[in-house]
Amino acid sequence: MPSASLNGESKDSMAQAFRSTRVLTPEGLVPATLLVEGERITGVHGWADVPAVTHLRDFGDFVLLPGLVDSHVHINEPGRTEWEGFETATRAAAAGGVTTLVDMPLNCVPETTDVGALEAKRAAAQGKAWVDWAAWGGVVRGNAEALLDLAGAGIPGFKCFLIHSGIDGFAWVNDADLRQALERLKGTGLPLLVHAEVAGPVNTATEALNDAGADWRAYSTYLASRPDAAEVEAIELLIRLAGDFETPIHIVHLSSARALPLLAEARGRGLPITVETCTQYLWFAAEEIPDGATEYKCAPPVRGAANREALWGALAEGLIDMVTTDHSPCPPAMKRRDEGRWDLAWGGIASLGLALPVLWTAMHRRGVSIDRLGTWMSAAPARLAGLSGRKGALAAGADADIVVFDPDAPLTVTPEDLNFRHKLSPYVGAELQGRVLETWLRGEPVFSLDYFHGAPRGRELVRA
Ligand SMILES: [Zn+2]
Repeated sequence: MPSASLNGESKDSMAQAFRSTRVLTPEGLVPATLLVEGERITGVHGWADVPAVTHLRDFGDFVLLPGLVDSHVHINEPGRTEWEGFETATRAAAAGGVTTLVDMPLNCVPETTDVGALEAKRAAAQGKAWVDWAAWGGVVRGNAEALLDLAGAGIPGFKCFLIHSGIDGFAWVNDADLRQALERLKGTGLPLLVHAEVAGPVNTATEALNDAGADWRAYSTYLASRPDAAEVEAIELLIRLAGDFETPIHIVHLSSARALPLLAEARGRGLPITVETCTQYLWFAAEEIPDGATEYKCAPPVRGAANREALWGALAEGLIDMVTTDHSPCPPAMKRRDEGRWDLAWGGIASLGLALPVLWTAMHRRGVSIDRLGTWMSAAPARLAGLSGRKGALAAGADADIVVFDPDAPLTVTPEDLNFRHKLSPYVGAELQGRVLETWLRGEPVFSLDYFHGAPRGRELVRA
């Protein structure tokens, strides 16, 4: 194991040099030495060029990655800490090489739709965060007056739904509400993140399934209840809005590959639209999901294998910008696994900390270069959250958030590998490749294989 004796060394003020034959810099995977002074990277040097009077940490041939940024996570604290919480979510992140989490404004209570709720979240996070974090604000029906105050309080952007969110306290918005919100956000430069499914096609499909007496234990029933059309219609609306306003719009968790031509056309016109997909849409396929296995339930749903490959194609082309987890756990009882009813189970997949080996395994099988990991899981989500320069790259000036990754180590996921609160995940049993050996946050170690260092010292990243 590299640098086994970290105890006590990290507190001294001596500069550190992180060296490997494979360092993922913005220029690609190269032999390099990262000079770290205090919390920051101050230089990227040649492999042999170790500055004098530094503590050399030589990681051999292991890959050094920039700390991952997961811009789509539901931490659920305050208010539903029994679902997850800062302590457990950020532990899972640290063990998975994720050094920055951006929390979604719902499932916590109160929902983050005004400054008071943001302050409650800040208070709840005190002393519990193992990695750095930020909080998206919410756009809901009726909170237009609160948006500029939230922006002024330092959030990186906003999230809204075009369909029922699963949480009654987080009201979805229609075209008119969106126009009101975008009018206010114009000029702030902050992005509006949108859950891009509209209700019409979902309601129509669900009624038809119920009329036909569909079996709600069958995954095919759930998939049919959330048709591609719900995503396509939502994205058509968002493209119109992106054309009418100057506010950047971000499509969260794209599942339907049928929306890709629309997005390509909109981007071709220079509209400010970015797109994410999630690990579950790139790993699983509808054909492989067992009936009743509600740990796979998420919305939009995991679609078929051909759809999955089309998402990979869009990632390769750069049309899809980034990969997040949409980690959205709940107490196991809410998954109602004994009944296996897809219509009654909570929708949300728990996966925080697994995204790196999952994505890397899938990339390796497809012959995709490891270089892309840095773009998809670190640089692009950092940019979305307004953190470029500080997070998302191993480059001079950035925080020294460094992941030591063994891309060849086998990993079979067991419940013991999961550091989030409830050990229920569709990835249990998955045979993966790649292990996080160490995670460093701002120049100090947070995690070494199966061990957490010291106490939580993550900070909120408040936009200046
Ligand atoms: Zn989500």
